[in-house]
Amino acid sequence: MIDVHCHLNFKSFAKDYDQVIKRAEKDGVKIIINTGTSIESSRRAVELAEQYPNLYAIVGIHPHHADKVGLNWDKELEQIARSSKKIVGIGEIGLDYYSYASNGIVDAKLQKEIFQKQIEIANKLNLPLQIHNRQAGNDILEILNSHWSMVNSQLPGMFHCMSGNVEFLKEVLNLGFYVGFDGNITYEGIAKGEDTPLSELVKQTPIDWIVTETDAPYLTPEPHRGSRNMPSYAIIVAENIAKIKGISVEEVEAATTRNAKALFNI
Ligand SMILES: [Zn+2]
Ligand SMILES: [Zn+2]
Repeated sequence: MIDVHCHLNFKSFAKDYDQVIKRAEKDGVKIIINTGTSIESSRRAVELAEQYPNLYAIVGIHPHHADKVGLNWDKELEQIARSSKKIVGIGEIGLDYYSYASNGIVDAKLQKEIFQKQIEIANKLNLPLQIHNRQAGNDILEILNSHWSMVNSQLPGMFHCMSGNVEFLKEVLNLGFYVGFDGNITYEGIAKGEDTPLSELVKQTPIDWIVTETDAPYLTPEPHRGSRNMPSYAIIVAENIAKIKGISVEEVEAATTRNAKALFNI
């Protein structure tokens, strides 16, 4: 199994990342991809990937950090993205219009600028995109469509932590993106501001287009909700995808592993 999106590069794993990585391997999550959200956390994701053979890195600026970057952030990011063979994508990039208690909403114009610039960087380096979307699906599709000449249409990338409605999902699949699901597919009900249960999106996504992820330390699946998430729980995500789709866990594990390897060329 592969966890295609987590954050062992974050502070909450600073003390025990080595144990967490070893436990994941023992539990069957053989490959872990850490994703950056800022220049600093992108650098840390690369450091970890250089340290462990089964770790890879995706580097980028999250829309929350769009108003916190320095003047030469794009040059710095490009330099980081070129610094290791273990960098397999540009992310997490995208748009986020959800109003967070701690962060509010970052100026949408600024978010778009940063997103577009990173599509250009991914194009220069021929790397797939790992897209973060929260309640900004239409604007993301608009930007992707207007920049499509800069996107590798054979292997554009993936939408991480899928949310939105079925119509949006279909557009994403039509463009050739893979779709990542996390532990929040185990949660009861529908998240604030959404109108479609995640189980419905899982059902509507062909297994050949699904990848598993945890977004650890966030989005801990049931029955561990409330504690820190970790890559080992990608297995719980796979179990729940299997249950929703009425197929075996083995089939989900095989397909999602194959999909992630094809997408990230690992
Ligand atoms: Zn995200
Ligand atoms: Zn994330």
